[in-house]
Amino acid sequence: MEETRKNIKDFTLEALTAWFVKQNEKPFRAKQIFNWLYQKKVDDFSEMLNMSKMLRDKLSKHFFISSLQRYQQIHAKDGTIKYVFELKDKQRIEAVLMAHRDHYTVCVSSQVGCAMGCDFCMTAQMGLVRNLTPGEIIDQILEIWKDVPENEGIRNVVFMGMGEPFHNYQNLINTLKIMLADVGFNFSSRRITVSTSGLVPQIVQFGQEDVRANLAISLNGVNDTIRTQLMPINKTYNLQKLIASCQNYPLESRKRITFEYILIKELTDALEDAKQLIKILHGLKFKINLIPYNESPGSKYKSPSSDQIQIFQRYLLDHGATATLRISRGKDIQGACGQLIQSFD
Ligand code: SAH
Ligand code: SF4
Repeated sequence: MEETRKNIKDFTLEALTAWFVKQNEKPFRAKQIFNWLYQKKVDDFSEMLNMSKMLRDKLSKHFFISSLQRYQQIHAKDGTIKYVFELKDKQRIEAVLMAHRDHYTVCVSSQVGCAMGCDFCMTAQMGLVRNLTPGEIIDQILEIWKDVPENEGIRNVVFMGMGEPFHNYQNLINTLKIMLADVGFNFSSRRITVSTSGLVPQIVQFGQEDVRANLAISLNGVNDTIRTQLMPINKTYNLQKLIASCQNYPLESRKRITFEYILIKELTDALEDAKQLIKILHGLKFKINLIPYNESPGSKYKSPSSDQIQIFQRYLLDHGATATLRISRGKDIQGACGQLIQSFD
């Protein structure tokens, strides 16, 4: 039978409150639902005991509570876990749990596949299959949360899995609203990072939203020739337009934009590129996250030597930039950046 009920996890607190009002129910019921779903993390209306049986029955007539199927789980030596989840329509997405010294970070997918076609990225090879709904993004966090020690919890969420979050804009915004609601997950906007390949109109729009999150931009090339070779989106929004949108981006005090920069051997790793990087970011409040290219079987690019990586980073540091090196976690499980691809078997 065709499912006519809606996934309750696709609803923001505002939308759910409006629904209760329309049903002549008490608006505060929406807050109670958020508390059950995202604090107590129940997965059945029958567990929501501060609501009458009648109301619970009504809820289950209108809504269902989604969950993800664990399709595969791969553990890396460094503790990173890559999850392959199966969605209702059998599509598969991936998410990654990274353990740090005193906290956990989850990397979520925002789409099945990706339309942006970046040359270095495995996800690009799938093309865009479909957008994920807010509930499907939220479910990645909820499912992984079950594996995290109760006293620790997940502190950071990064939108760096499959997909281009700004290409699924409204669902992204609603996901953030759900994550930030204090009666639910109560995530801090400082602990959420959205990474984009550089969709300029959405960067502008994001700067004007009430919901906030840290902004990361995948730069990867320091001139239009290289950047267009790596990221076709650069033909539409070239470096000049991208940097201009960053200059105008409203940042809260002490906040910076993160620029992710993939180091590819003999393509983006020259000292000259480091110089150019400092030049184009001049005047911005920024930090740089260097990501040595993750090779996959058969990939056409190579990772630079660790000497070259250090020379590159040194130059940036010597010129007053904050430049961190992303140690690729979960490399042995293809759970690192750009290695998220649906396995067809
Ligand atoms: N679509 C968004 C977010 C997901 S990609 C974006 O592009 O920003 C997350 C990050 O992984 C991006 O910074 C991207 O540049 C990087 N990445 C993709 N493939 C990679 C690879 N093979 N090696 C290293 N980094 C890669
Ligand atoms: Fe999409 Fe990001 Fe991969 Fe580019 S790097 S194809 S935008 S997921």
